[in-house]
Amino acid sequence: MGPPDFYRVWLSEIMLQQTRVEAVIPYYERFLALFPDVESLAAAPEPDVLTAWSGLGYYSRARNLHRAAKQIMATGQPADQARLLDLAGIGAYTAAAVASIALGQPHAAVDGNVIRVVSRLTNDPGEISSPVTRKRFAEEAQRLLDPRRPGDFNQAMMELGATVCVPRSPDCPHCPVARLCAARATGTELELPVKLKKAASRDVTLDLALFAGRAGIAGKVFLIQRASDERRLADFWELPSKTLFPGWRGRPAGRIAHRIVNDRFRITVWLGPAPRVLPAGKWFTSVELAAIPLTTITRKALDAAGSGPTRIPPSASK
Ligand code: SF4
Repeated sequence: MGPPDFYRVWLSEIMLQQTRVEAVIPYYERFLALFPDVESLAAAPEPDVLTAWSGLGYYSRARNLHRAAKQIMATGQPADQARLLDLAGIGAYTAAAVASIALGQPHAAVDGNVIRVVSRLTNDPGEISSPVTRKRFAEEAQRLLDPRRPGDFNQAMMELGATVCVPRSPDCPHCPVARLCAARATGTELELPVKLKKAASRDVTLDLALFAGRAGIAGKVFLIQRASDERRLADFWELPSKTLFPGWRGRPAGRIAHRIVNDRFRITVWLGPAPRVLPAGKWFTSVELAAIPLTTITRKALDAAGSGPTRIPPSASK
């Protein structure tokens, strides 16, 4: 069997950057069906790429992937880790993962899971946000790497960290490297890795407005578009905030919870008749909704209100 296909390895590593494997699989398969190779991805309009990514979150990954596909079409497939680092959206971890898995080159890929495993194997109490500590763990991972099978080694380390050497309850009795583990020998595995305390979570309340009911717009959803220069989710479409329409009345049509880093959103979707004066925006049919980049909050909110991309908004008069 030859080495795994470069494009597939690269795509999967980008999708897995902030998302769990089980959540990624259906998106990965759908994305591959739409864009089966670098050429088709590079040639696609950006809105199509964002739409295919819609629901996975962290959309800068999709924009960078698209940009990198164009870079590859202009300069050729990267031949090593250094060239991979020239591509948009590829940092040290992803470059090492792709170089080892797709190109068979001996680079240790070091993410949070691997840092935890290394900190325990070496019983190292260094605080992991420190660049000095991270460099030491990276050097240790590189020292442990099997240069004959670097891709298998990296995937085994990631898998060990994800399934056995987990944060709160490492399964040491069934761990294949327990005999080599210094933390296990001294009983310190639960104290490692050492981390600074996280910032406290914030509760954020959000009220969104969903309009329905009047002739000409029945069955459509009104959305506004985020500005092109927004730091997050530029050009994505979303439901307007209810606060944009003082005095407007609706009834709760759905509630959702959503988390972005330390912000815990509690979101209510309010359904009511469309006001006479609306901000710049557009009405979309449920079919059109499926073909535009929607923020994850809006996608979840529309689903909760029964007005998702494949459904028709309920009547406001109910
Ligand atoms: Fe992790 Fe325990 Fe295995 Fe050590 S023995 S690597 S702490 S699971």
